Amino acid sequence: MAVTRGHGNPNWNRDEIILALDLYNQLGGSLPGPNDARVIALSDLLRSLPYHAAAARNPTFRNPYGVAFKLQNLRSVATGKGLSNVSALDRAIWAEFGNAPEQVRELAGRIRSAITTEGMEDDESSDDEEFYEGRLLFRLHRSRERKPQLRRKLLAKRRSSGLTCDICDLTRPDLPPDLEESLFEAHHVVPLAEAEVRPTRLSDMALLCACCHRAIHRLIALEARWVGISEARTFLRRVGSHPSEVQSQSELDERLLRAEQG
Ligand SMILES: [Zn+2]
Ligand SMILES: [Zn+2]
Repeated sequence: MAVTRGHGNPNWNRDEIILALDLYNQLGGSLPGPNDARVIALSDLLRSLPYHAAAARNPTFRNPYGVAFKLQNLRSVATGKGLSNVSALDRAIWAEFGNAPEQVRELAGRIRSAITTEGMEDDESSDDEEFYEGRLLFRLHRSRERKPQLRRKLLAKRRSSGLTCDICDLTRPDLPPDLEESLFEAHHVVPLAEAEVRPTRLSDMALLCACCHRAIHRLIALEARWVGISEARTFLRRVGSHPSEVQSQSELDERLLRAEQG
């Protein structure tokens, strides 16, 4: 088996392990070999994912042997027998989803459907922006937020009370409407992994200035968990919400000192 493990291939990432765990759950205890159609189908899928484009040119990358081996690893984690080859991520994902096969089914379905979502190629997010939803769901999340129609509806809804960032309260009613609107973006407040499968509602969307939007996604990535608007608001507003609010260097120093003191 050693030759077929694909030494030198990149480690399996979260999305890939969830897809394998979903297959493992469907197998009801049996462990098929590399000639099994389901194993081959998963291998084909994994090789087509936009994760490890260069490695995917290597014939051993996620080949059916590799998939069959991963299923063995998952059984090791599940049964606690023969754990020597199991990765920390396998264990972590089992700890998270071992008792929730329906959730794995759901997530795997979403990952599969995210693969075919339009506009994924031109996503400019960097790898470290992925958060616990995994890269594909993260991209789907971003692509939903960026739907121009949705943003327009959100802006129209919020227009009556004045456009304000839900995190830092930035508001620029002095600007011409086009320019004012260009400061704001729609942010989806429900993690995709937890949202029901339904079209996005306006009530799912927060209005954020581009800076805060960037910051909340970074915060989610750094924390490796979902961070809601009010938590981000507390966190990002500790020192000063916006540079324009800070009148002088001494005031900034004072705010920093206060923030440090808690
Ligand atoms: Zn803001
Ligand atoms: Zn967002």
